[in-house]
Amino acid sequence: MSSEQTSAQESADHTAGSHELLIVGGGVAGLMAATFTARAGIETLVVNDGESVLNRNAHLENVPGFPAGVDPRLFGDMLKSQATRNGAEFQSARVADLEGSLEAGFVATAETDGETREILADRVLVASFPDADFLEEFDVDIREAGKKQYVDEEHGRTGVEGLYVAGRITERYHQAVISAGDGAKTAITLIHDAEIPFYNDWVVPEGYFTDRGREVPPGCEEIDATEQQARQAESRAAMQEYFAEPHDAQQRTHPSLVDDDVGRVDFGE
Ligand SMILES: Cc1cc2nc3c(=O)[nH]c(=O)nc-3n(C[C@H](O)[C@H](O)[C@H](O)COP(=O)(O)OP(=O)(O)OC[C@H]3O[C@@H](n4cnc5c(N)ncnc54)[C@H](O)[C@@H]3O)c2cc1C
Repeated sequence: MSSEQTSAQESADHTAGSHELLIVGGGVAGLMAATFTARAGIETLVVNDGESVLNRNAHLENVPGFPAGVDPRLFGDMLKSQATRNGAEFQSARVADLEGSLEAGFVATAETDGETREILADRVLVASFPDADFLEEFDVDIREAGKKQYVDEEHGRTGVEGLYVAGRITERYHQAVISAGDGAKTAITLIHDAEIPFYNDWVVPEGYFTDRGREVPPGCEEIDATEQQARQAESRAAMQEYFAEPHDAQQRTHPSLVDDDVGRVDFGE
């Protein structure tokens, strides 16, 4: 079978309206995972409801790459922009239920403004801290801790084929860089399980492999000096724009402090 035929067959096998990957939760872990899976060519839909808990932070000073810190809401926007640039898509909705399997496909029930719809996906990556209620159909270990739920996993696998988990909901440490790294780790596990040859995800200078008589490995890209300069110029322009003005989102705080005389707000207000 030619590669074109294989690709046509794969499209036919793919249920109409179905997504190759549904990521539930578009916070730090979900957005980082989406960047990795989309870069590997997996058609990725992120469904998010509400806001990352990171939006309650006042100034984020311990993520890599920002020596003087960064507005956490701007940081979230940048993570989303990175996932979007790499091809991920987004919908706003709360995932209220999930059923299915890798073999049959997964079906998520998504709610927006009282309306429900189904989202079909081949695989699902859960990054919905602190909510794992919608996993009750599955044989996964969930630890209840007050209003929070933590899902047991190994390398991001839940034990249910095709169902993955990442970020704080795995009870990793409670820092953004940990959740970002965990999202990337789970994404790479999923990419490997999907047998997509995308091991490195590296961009290297022209000749790095080929001048040593090697093929460019899958998931690697060699770029020449002109392309490198173009990408760096685009990067500088984007960063200047991000940091040109203060972010306009309101500070979030703990729900118990909402509506006090300081005028602090909780999510969504
Ligand atoms: C006050 C405060 C200050 C912090 N300060 C720092 C700091 O200075 N440095 C640092 O490194 N870390 C800080 N953190 C921790 C950091 O914010 C978290 O560790 C990190 O955001 C966890 O990432 P996550 O992706 O697992 O969860 P989140 O970023 O919270 O993302 C989860 C997303 O899933 C969505 N979601 C939940 N349920 C559903 C559902 N059923 N359907 C669809 N979407 C759903 C949520 O609304 C959210 O958008 C702080 C946290 C708080 C609360």
